[in-house]
Amino acid sequence: MAISDKTRKFLWAKSGNRCAICKAELITSTVSFDEFNLGEECHIISSKPTGPRHIPSLEEYDNYENLLLLCKNHHKEIDELTDTYTEELLRYIKTNHENWVKNTIKDAIDKEQKDEEPKFLSRITSGKDLFNIINEVYGYRTDYDDIKSEEEMNFIGGFIQALIDYGDISGMIEAHDKVRIGYELQKLIDEIENKGYYIFGERGLEPMFSHQPKSDKWTVATIIIKRKENPEIIKIDLENLANE
Ligand SMILES: [Zn+2]
Ligand SMILES: [Zn+2]
Repeated sequence: MAISDKTRKFLWAKSGNRCAICKAELITSTVSFDEFNLGEECHIISSKPTGPRHIPSLEEYDNYENLLLLCKNHHKEIDELTDTYTEELLRYIKTNHENWVKNTIKDAIDKEQKDEEPKFLSRITSGKDLFNIINEVYGYRTDYDDIKSEEEMNFIGGFIQALIDYGDISGMIEAHDKVRIGYELQKLIDEIENKGYYIFGERGLEPMFSHQPKSDKWTVATIIIKRKENPEIIKIDLENLANE
């Protein structure tokens, strides 16, 4: 068995396209340029009896749990120095690296939020549009009006969590599942609108390191939940605008 495209995509996304050891930015072999490091999808446990860290008859060697994204040099290093790079250490490196990616994105988003000028977001009324905003993003920025009851806390919290959960798996699922998620999101939008809220959102590219505006860009979903009567909401009558 080979590594599936889905697993590969998920591994690269979770790793922030970087080597888990030196954090060098990596590219896939299909777009090879000299100045870039080629990323290698390394097995933590080798399926070959003489391979690094081999354990016989593992149910699956090519799944996400058994893979680590590394640069060429570090792949070589972990496979040669197997006394140092034990299975346990590699799992630790992997978890640490993924947390680093998550926190780096979160810091960049928080920083951005502070310097941000007010911007206009469109109201989202369709589950399909909402899915397109969260589809394979690296981070989420969410905001909502002050919560006034436990009931509100529960459904707004549940809504945001559902969005993040759907967004996180979006890179690993088939087209028909995406359609299904769009449908589920539609039900959630209808429910939240019935409770007196509107949802606003957009999908945008933001630099990974806010102090380096030229650093890599990440796709981030912004989702804002506002009470319908919030004075910040501006209604624009597009039809009348066009007629003027
Ligand atoms: Zn490296
Ligand atoms: Zn290897």
